[in-house]
Amino acid sequence: MKRSKSTCMIFCLLVAAGLAAEARGASFIAKDGNPLAEIIIATNAPRAAKFAAEELQAYIEKISGAKLAITNEAGKEIPVKIYVGKSKYTDGLKISDEGLKHGAYKMVPGRDWLALIGQDKAFTPPEPHMRGRDDLPRALGEWDKLTGEKFGFPHTQLYKFHGQGFWDYDERGSLNAVYAFLRSLGVRWYMPGDLGEIVPQKKNIELPKIERTVHPDFALRYPSFMRFGIMSRENVLWQLRMGFNKGLDVVGFDFAHGMNRVMARDEMKEAHPDYYALYNGKRDTVFRGTGKPCLSSEGLLQANVRYARKMFDIYGVPHVSTMPQDGYGALCQCDLCKGKDDPGRGTKGHMSDYVWSFENRVAQEVFKTHPDRKIGCAAYGAYELVPTNISALSPNLLLTFCQARRDFYDPKKRQYYADLRKAWMDKMPEKSRQFWVYEYYLHTKPTSVYGYMPVFYPHTIAGDMRSLKGQCLGEFIDMNWEGNFMAVDHLNLYVTAQYWWDAGQDIDTLLEEYYDLFYGPARKEMKAFIDYSEANWMDLRNQPEKIDKVFDLLEKAQGKAPSDSIYGRRMAFLADYLKPLKDLRAQLAKGREGNPEARAYSQVGKDFKLDGKLDEEFWKNIGGGGLSEVQTGTPPAFGTSFKAFWKDNAIVFGIQCRDMSTNLNIATARNDDGNLWNGDCVELLIETQAHSYYQLSINPAGAFADLDRKGGLETLWSSHAQVATSIGEDGWSAEMLIPVADEAQDAVDPLNGLAGRRPTKTYPWYINVCRQRVRDNGKEDSAWSPTGKNTFHDTLKFGKLYVE
Ligand SMILES: [Zn+2]
Repeated sequence: MKRSKSTCMIFCLLVAAGLAAEARGASFIAKDGNPLAEIIIATNAPRAAKFAAEELQAYIEKISGAKLAITNEAGKEIPVKIYVGKSKYTDGLKISDEGLKHGAYKMVPGRDWLALIGQDKAFTPPEPHMRGRDDLPRALGEWDKLTGEKFGFPHTQLYKFHGQGFWDYDERGSLNAVYAFLRSLGVRWYMPGDLGEIVPQKKNIELPKIERTVHPDFALRYPSFMRFGIMSRENVLWQLRMGFNKGLDVVGFDFAHGMNRVMARDEMKEAHPDYYALYNGKRDTVFRGTGKPCLSSEGLLQANVRYARKMFDIYGVPHVSTMPQDGYGALCQCDLCKGKDDPGRGTKGHMSDYVWSFENRVAQEVFKTHPDRKIGCAAYGAYELVPTNISALSPNLLLTFCQARRDFYDPKKRQYYADLRKAWMDKMPEKSRQFWVYEYYLHTKPTSVYGYMPVFYPHTIAGDMRSLKGQCLGEFIDMNWEGNFMAVDHLNLYVTAQYWWDAGQDIDTLLEEYYDLFYGPARKEMKAFIDYSEANWMDLRNQPEKIDKVFDLLEKAQGKAPSDSIYGRRMAFLADYLKPLKDLRAQLAKGREGNPEARAYSQVGKDFKLDGKLDEEFWKNIGGGGLSEVQTGTPPAFGTSFKAFWKDNAIVFGIQCRDMSTNLNIATARNDDGNLWNGDCVELLIETQAHSYYQLSINPAGAFADLDRKGGLETLWSSHAQVATSIGEDGWSAEMLIPVADEAQDAVDPLNGLAGRRPTKTYPWYINVCRQRVRDNGKEDSAWSPTGKNTFHDTLKFGKLYVE
């Protein structure tokens, strides 16, 4: 991207307005609040260009009080012309919109005119498309006729900006030019609505001599709340002003999991059961409505190839995803698939060779007929790592990286993704080294562990986006857009949007301007608050003194501006959002004092063998904990002890349950079977630094079930733990090896892997180890940290676990 820094631009303009105007008898758009210019658009201007003219008119009036006329024909009386969009006048001046892709725009100045121009194109939904919610049967019938197949209907989410009549897919380059011009006059939109808007007041607006052509640094600029039909008008307006681009010109309609279209319909399931993965002797045709694929199926491969070709031919899109269904983390058990995974590569790579061989072949096949189109799949979940069995990927594969840059405050994580991107690009032919990013801004979700926290990270955003510039086509941001998410995310999104256009700008200059304009008299205090929040949000979950500091800084800022002023109202909006954090503060104050502590050992277990027997020598030499009756804390009839050690990137638990082994109550031998809790079992409840909390249960037969208890009961979650049990003379025992992914895991792939890091004394885990014995004459529940209640599930009672 070639342009001078916007800040310099504004500065230059101000200087120009002050000094040069008088000297050279400059022209004015408005003088003393009177209009001296008119806005000219083509007679048949596309709707986005018309809207651009209206926005320009509205804001010039807001700034100066002067209302410029919008017209199709240049008049003689009005001295200055502002041309918005392509028209006979811009044609006459030989100002072209050629090459202005992905929302790029131009500002061209003349002696008594200014042209603001980009490509404006009204989107017409390609046929077949759904006219409304009830229109699927008709549209699907058309689609079937065109394809001659039974594929799912490919695009159901099209959104129109109600009232304005244009679609989120309309190209609106001239509108971007208008907004850039208004920004050069000092207008800012930091947040949707009046509360977020900065409009300078001046009676005189000089006709500027701005000449620039601006290409965005990232073509795809799409946060998931960009849904014109269902967001509020002020929210949609803000999206337009940020210059987002939903990416029809980059990825088409399809972002991920496109293989679902091939697998979703009953006709397909009945005709081709071999397309679906075999688990425990049964083809999975039900998971999330589509089932899971068997990627050894040649038929499924050819169906994906045909699907992609139909999408290209019928809809003219540049890209089609053939990525498998979400939550695809276990290898199909059919004979063809046997041995095709690589458990040695762990949760992030054990399916890489298997999935990418398939995707690469789809791409190679499609390349033969459509070499200019892309096949998409993400480095994701169990196939995040680079495949080892492919030397060079097909040049038409477009990769997606899934990441939560929020966590890149940690240099190790940042480096991990930098290395991952590089490893993937090295697998691509040099000319096609491109990718796009699937980002997660989900921290404002009430169910996120960071919900209601001041998760500001402008510097992290800026740093990552600088690193992405070049090979990255842009981003889709999967974000929360319910409730008052803008209270915190307006700044994260504003920074992101600015960097999508210009990743080379200086973040501190941008922030200084924000503090100044947005918080006025509280600028210094708000900077202190946001700086502190950016450095400490990750600790607020368990460090009450930091929560105190956050509120202390915010209150100081609020004291600087009257509460009914615009600045006071902006701070109140934020303070209101953060209120539940005070509840967490109160809860933390009660703390976990007095709860038991246990140490997990390191540098032991070299001779560890996962067989359920705690008979290796090292088990005898390490300490652990014992269980007591859950309500009374008294010794149970049959005792239980546990020990733990840290091995590579995993924690290993050994649990010894005394019992009469002839009398065990084994309710099931199957994994993930709810019957497990009807009999004897042991439960591990684990809260890591990043996640509260997981439950892993096992019975004497080795039947295992794991679930994520964070937002209720997520049984689809898998820890990918390796477990074994053994029944001996004096009871039974279990060994559980639980791999630990990293803290970003629950954001990146929430259904796979335990999110957290190695527990330390300062940043421990909190756990409970619980056991249930069910006999005819009653039940015995015991726990390492008794809860005093008839339940194991009380996180405040969890005891501390750390590695030393
Ligand atoms: Zn298979």
